[in-house]
Amino acid sequence: MCRHLGWLGREVAISSLVLDPPHSLRVQSYAPRRQKHGLMNADGWGVGLFDSSLQDNVARRWRSPAPLWGDASFDSMAPALRSHCVVAAVRSATVGMPIEASATAPFTDGRWLLSHNGVVDRAVLPTGLLAESVCDSAMLAATIFARGLDALGETVAQIGAADPDARLNVLAANGSRMLATVWGDTLSILRRDDGVVLASEPYDDEYDWEDVPDRHLVEVTAGGVVLTPLDPAKGPS
Ligand code: GLN
Repeated sequence: MCRHLGWLGREVAISSLVLDPPHSLRVQSYAPRRQKHGLMNADGWGVGLFDSSLQDNVARRWRSPAPLWGDASFDSMAPALRSHCVVAAVRSATVGMPIEASATAPFTDGRWLLSHNGVVDRAVLPTGLLAESVCDSAMLAATIFARGLDALGETVAQIGAADPDARLNVLAANGSRMLATVWGDTLSILRRDDGVVLASEPYDDEYDWEDVPDRHLVEVTAGGVVLTPLDPAKGPS
């Protein structure tokens, strides 16, 4: 399982989310605390954001197939990168999947950024979609983009029903909405005064992180946070 993190709120420095906290994604890249599958996340990293000043809703990202902990260039740039909406991830590649930047989250259709923690049998996904990589997560992302993010809960529940061994924790954002599913792995919410963090695991022990129960959809907007149970047979109930 990889680890991911999303932010929707006021504009903040990327380093404050991804690098600085005591159990940040950078630390989770070599010492995750709640990871159930895989020991570390050394197979790449990606940070995607929406530019608050341009307000063009274009998804921008920076991905690498190398470990986040060794990237001195990103360490230097991250304090200067600021955004109100971020999707970031560190990767532990599933056996058999390619280790390349194009297999690394966040994936995008230009408007949404999307990360996947988990694994899915590619045989249950539709064929013929243009995915960024043959990696299962890239093909899952292409499926979700094709069906539309409004159907994220239904899509995850249907794929989960078709592949009972699938783990389908998805995190996506488009600049004004952040969506996540919990399906087989962990997800925590931190409601801060200046915004909301969704993360595979808490980045510190200081604040009141809330664990989201399995098989739920989370939606974050300016209006707040809404949790909806996902019915394995039908999608959101
Ligand atoms: N299956 C995906 C990959 O190979 C995600 C792996 C994960 O969550 N560790 O990249």
